Amino acid sequence: MSRHNAPARDEQLQAILSRELNRQRHKLEMIASENFVSEAVLAAGASVFTNKYAEGYPDRRYYGGCEFADELENLTQGRARKLFGAEHANVQPHCGSSANMAAYFAVLKPGDAILGMDLAHGGHLTHGAPVSFAGRLFRCLSYGVRKDTEYIDYDQVAAIAEREKPRLIVAGASSYPRVVDFPRFRSIADRCGATLMVDMAHFAGLVATGLHPSPVPYAEIVTSTTHKTLRGPRGGLILCRRSHAKAIDDQVFPGIQGGPLMHIIAAKAVALGEALEPDFIDYQRQVLRNCQRLAAALADGGYRLVSGGTDTHLILIDLRPSGLTGHAAQTALDLAGITANKNAVPFEKERFSVASGLRLGTAALTTRGMVETDMDEVAEFIVEALRHTDDEGRLKRIRLRVEEFTQRFPLYPGLAG
Ligand SMILES: *Cc1c(COP(=O)(O)O)cnc(C)c1O
Repeated sequence: MSRHNAPARDEQLQAILSRELNRQRHKLEMIASENFVSEAVLAAGASVFTNKYAEGYPDRRYYGGCEFADELENLTQGRARKLFGAEHANVQPHCGSSANMAAYFAVLKPGDAILGMDLAHGGHLTHGAPVSFAGRLFRCLSYGVRKDTEYIDYDQVAAIAEREKPRLIVAGASSYPRVVDFPRFRSIADRCGATLMVDMAHFAGLVATGLHPSPVPYAEIVTSTTHKTLRGPRGGLILCRRSHAKAIDDQVFPGIQGGPLMHIIAAKAVALGEALEPDFIDYQRQVLRNCQRLAAALADGGYRLVSGGTDTHLILIDLRPSGLTGHAAQTALDLAGITANKNAVPFEKERFSVASGLRLGTAALTTRGMVETDMDEVAEFIVEALRHTDDEGRLKRIRLRVEEFTQRFPLYPGLAG
């Protein structure tokens, strides 16, 4: 132990950590899948549970010394069940993708058909992209949005389901700004005899607070990440009906994972506890109000929003009318101190590495304490940067104003930079 307690700091690592903390503090974090966890979540994630092997489940472990790991995992599962009103929760998936993999393995055999949302229309890689394990192991079919409304084309979902009889239908997406109609998906799944899985990775925080309809009453399996709107540590989560509990648990471990990350499960417990507090509802309401305000300001600035707006924490700008690519917009915003990501927009022709859209989210900025009037300023920064993507001097001047703006919203004041 003496060596571990020695005061010698890892200067190289400290320098990197400090640069990253400064980046998070002084830039506007608008990646829709990111957030800032509380200091309590950070601390739990850095706890001594990182030392513990706990393969298996509470009271069914393959190692000794798991009594407190059992308490921890039972606590975390209980909070997840309570928050979402679910019959069963598995809190071990290392990330959203492994949650999806375990869910697929629980109900599918290689070669079975999945019907999921097209990546180019907002779906996630794991919903069937050829480069994902899903595309390699299963017969992946996809649905998209309607060309006129840019809302999910439920008639198309129904027609493909009827014709192809997939074993699993996946609802939920990564860059779809609208509410998903779970009763509709349920009735489509019932008509073709498919299992329904909802991946609520993005909007789980909204579901937890009743601001997005819950998929739990409609889907046999609900997967999620814990680090997006839910504002927990980087990780995954699976909720399911009692009838699917054993199959899900068996596929998480030993199916696809080894020992669970108990320190991350500790951090999930803290985050789920925070999400059960009444002020989490205020937070999510503010996320939505901020997103509405940002959408309105960007529309006023002349930008076209896919589907005409948003019901959630994210918006998708179609840059084609402004003659910009997603890549150019992302690069310019980066120089201006605004972090976001390029994204495909439905029916576009660009490669994914260029893309014609820009996805923006308000979950992280809201955690920093920003409200609607702040969104007006944020929108001004964005519009100015997008109008001057070739003017590096101007972008750098915006960055200085952004840096000054961020000082009003302290981030991790207790942490030394
Ligand atoms: C983010 C996301 C995931 C994957 O999460 P990782 O933790 O990055 O593996 C899965 N599904 C959807 C819809 C997502 O948006």
